[in-house]
Amino acid sequence: QSTDLNDLITNVIDGLEASQADTAPSLNVLLPRPLPTVNADPALITEVLSNLLSNALKYTNKPQPKIEVGYLTADEWQREDGGLPAHTCALYVKDDGIGIRKRHFQNVFRLFKRLHERDSYGGGTGVGLTIAKKIIERHGGQIWLESNYGEGTTFYFVLNCEEK
Ligand code: ATP
Ligand code: MG
Repeated sequence: QSTDLNDLITNVIDGLEASQADTAPSLNVLLPRPLPTVNADPALITEVLSNLLSNALKYTNKPQPKIEVGYLTADEWQREDGGLPAHTCALYVKDDGIGIRKRHFQNVFRLFKRLHERDSYGGGTGVGLTIAKKIIERHGGQIWLESNYGEGTTFYFVLNCEEK
């Protein structure tokens, strides 16, 4: 399916805002440019984005967390290891939250794994990222993260993105 992510992200943000209305301040999500159209199941990508955004909101100490959602085309994605395949793009959800230590980068995708169990970052079951990874892999993509502990985390995932 061809899915325009712009309406989809608006719905995800509205949904999260509604569910957090009494606790959190309004959700501050920066979209540096319009999101791409992707070849993916809209319901499943909604699940991925809402899992990543709810984590970005949850694992922070900031009263006004700043979250950014955007993407890089394959051409823009300059990496030493050859970059991205043609027709793909890398979407990202970037937060300024508590961060994740490097030794836990892989662990967070494990079923029921929670790093902050004893801290007061709100509840959870440890399934959100496991589901996100399954969904992205089913679409032939990959998901990974970069983080500086204490500064913030960015989750990236690759999808098949339509050419204009
Ligand atoms: P659920 O998503 O099932 O409600 P959860 O948020 O604990 O529960 P995951 O979304 O799978 O589960 O995340 C696993 C763990 O990874 C979290 O418990 C948290 O410790 C850590 N984590 C996830 N996202 C972030 C983030 N953006 N910043 C810091 N830590 C994170
Ligand atoms: Mg979660």
